[in-house]
Amino acid sequence: MRFKAIEIAQERPYRKVDLSGHRIAEIFASNVFTEEVMRSYLSKEALKAIKNARNGEKISREYADQIAAGMKAWAMEKGASHFTHWFQPLTGSTAEKHDSFFEPQDGKAVTKFSGNDLVQQEPDASSLPSGGLRNTFEARGYTAWDPSSPVFVYENTSGKTLCIPTVFVSYNGEALDYKAPLLKSLALLDSAATAVSQYFDPAVETVQGSLGIEQEYFLVDRALYTQRPDLIMCGRTLFGYSAAKNQQMEDHYFGSIPDRVFNYMYELEIEAHKLGIPLRTRHNEVAPGQYECAPQFEEINLAVDHNQLLMDLMDEVAAKHGFKVLLHEKPFMGINGSGKHNNWSMVTNTGVNLLSPGNDPDSNLSFLTFFINTIKAVCDHADLLRASIASASNDHRLGANEAPPAIISIFIGSTLTKVLNALEQDRKSDSGNGGKTISIAKIPEIMVDNTDRNRTSPFAFTGNKFELRAVGSSQNSASPMTALNTAVANQLIIFKQEVDALIESENLSKEQAIIRVLRKDLIASKKVLFEGNGYSQEWVEEAERRGLANIKDTPSALAAMISPSTVEMMERHGILSATELHARYEIQLEDYHKKIQIEGRLIDDMAYTRIFPPTVRYQSQLAQAIAQMKQAGMSDEDLKQHVEILEEVNGHFRKLKILVDEMVEERKKANKIESSVEKCLAYCNNVKSRFDDIRYHADKLERLIDDNMWEFPKYRELLYIK
Ligand code: ADP
Ligand code: MG
Repeated sequence: MRFKAIEIAQERPYRKVDLSGHRIAEIFASNVFTEEVMRSYLSKEALKAIKNARNGEKISREYADQIAAGMKAWAMEKGASHFTHWFQPLTGSTAEKHDSFFEPQDGKAVTKFSGNDLVQQEPDASSLPSGGLRNTFEARGYTAWDPSSPVFVYENTSGKTLCIPTVFVSYNGEALDYKAPLLKSLALLDSAATAVSQYFDPAVETVQGSLGIEQEYFLVDRALYTQRPDLIMCGRTLFGYSAAKNQQMEDHYFGSIPDRVFNYMYELEIEAHKLGIPLRTRHNEVAPGQYECAPQFEEINLAVDHNQLLMDLMDEVAAKHGFKVLLHEKPFMGINGSGKHNNWSMVTNTGVNLLSPGNDPDSNLSFLTFFINTIKAVCDHADLLRASIASASNDHRLGANEAPPAIISIFIGSTLTKVLNALEQDRKSDSGNGGKTISIAKIPEIMVDNTDRNRTSPFAFTGNKFELRAVGSSQNSASPMTALNTAVANQLIIFKQEVDALIESENLSKEQAIIRVLRKDLIASKKVLFEGNGYSQEWVEEAERRGLANIKDTPSALAAMISPSTVEMMERHGILSATELHARYEIQLEDYHKKIQIEGRLIDDMAYTRIFPPTVRYQSQLAQAIAQMKQAGMSDEDLKQHVEILEEVNGHFRKLKILVDEMVEERKKANKIESSVEKCLAYCNNVKSRFDDIRYHADKLERLIDDNMWEFPKYRELLYIK
């Protein structure tokens, strides 16, 4: 089967993508119910109702019906036959349940899509994770339209569906998805950042979070993929001897894109553009077979929706090209894994990027305010941020000697380090002169300077935005973005209270008060700033001295989801209640132990049914050869190397079997544990901890046994055939 798969992969015809007659400008957002399209399908009043709904106002029945009718007309002209509420349950992927527009009436088919259908649905969603929020006897969950993200028509090979972005809540109103808390955190960030912005520009009325998500992934040929049960079931290889050549030649990053991959990327871009996803960048990544795509940044809610949609699209388009997309954080041992880089900033309705340093003192003070408050927020809630990116698959990246370390730190570059040092030391700066004497007046209009970069930092300032690089490649970015937005908004609220109090009590100027509070916050959060090599052992030790957490695995990291400081902050701002946080915590724990459980089962299965049999066949072949040669008169000395190989194979075989059996025993023990935390810890410390040793011996067998007998496509085939 392996050789058949190799043959199919090698002979696979290229799918050519034809874009003749299309121009990006013509196809861009052609499947989206955009503002412009809305104007031709909806009345002015209905349009206004949608705008108001984005600010939280309820849409009247009458307008909902009008809007639904307009959407239906547009979608049916596009060829859609069904509609679905599209949502993001806590599984991490997206969910949809399609209903037809058609309804039988008096023996005929009529089309129907009412305001009710648009605004709210009750999916029979009792099988989606709820962490105990929905007992199965009260299994109802509701999806409710999110008017801030436009509806779109999704094309499958043989059908089109009108998709309505929605939030997903339980009967009692608890959030069961990623979007509901994200939207709340964005509203909070808006009000907190707007209030602080008004210190510098009273014309600011709103602040939007902006997000550009770089997405890394691997491509493998589909025929080879289907011969790897571990890739199919776990998304990563559980076994596999490293290819002689992996990424040591450093020849893949930004290398020329293979034709077949280029065709895939091109078609992906076309499909993404139709859905209004502004994909702009494509390139090879560091590891062989690894690639990246990135859109132009957008408002955060939209960027997250688009990334979720993009992951679906990638999978579908890849299938057309005979590829399988691997979004797992670490599909292959020994070469880089994949992440998402979440580029994050805030922008005012007046068009100012709040994290863009300007060249005059006033805008610099504004920049420093948002810059330092972000640093303080990340420092104070580093554990929450770490929890928001924790998963069984991301554990393979974070802290596992590759980007980025599990220690949350911030890289700001040498220029800003100097600026902050000056701010910290310049004691004169808040006396007289309206606070404008100090070095903050001198930040050069930096800095989109590619040399001052540090790829080892989990949270890096890159000129006019922060880049959170620790997010997993398969993950929904809503979770880390909710954590970041909330922590920053919370910090901005505290900051403003402190500044106002200082102005009031000490009769300071606004600038003086701001600088004084900034300096205090900077001193309090300085320990999180780190410019050096995040992969080094010295940093691990230094971070420990500084009191920064280094949380290596998911079961430990998740604790911060329900820590007193998280619960207090999330509840105070109405983002998530203690009950909701506990439910999410349970879901994440369960997700973790189930994933390790599946991997454990599969390791057992693959070892017994696919690795032991060829091992035995090879041994018996060797043994027969030895016996025959002995009969032919060869001495023991002549047969020394034959026997050595046989012994070596047998040694690894024996150890492999013992280790697999022990792991299975530990798995059984773990399964009996009631407490979800204890169970997770048992899976982490007693089951998963054995995987590497098991793999070591299996990979040795792959290295020793006749290549013709090995059943699984090898790394060199998975990574290089395309
Ligand atoms: P790299 O980090 O690989 O150099 P780029 O500089 O091209 O990549 O930017 C990566 C992402 O950051 C892109 O999606 C880009 O649109 C996004 N980005 C740029 N400016 C901002 C901003 N102000 N807010 C959020 N994202 C931004
Ligand atoms: Mg980047």
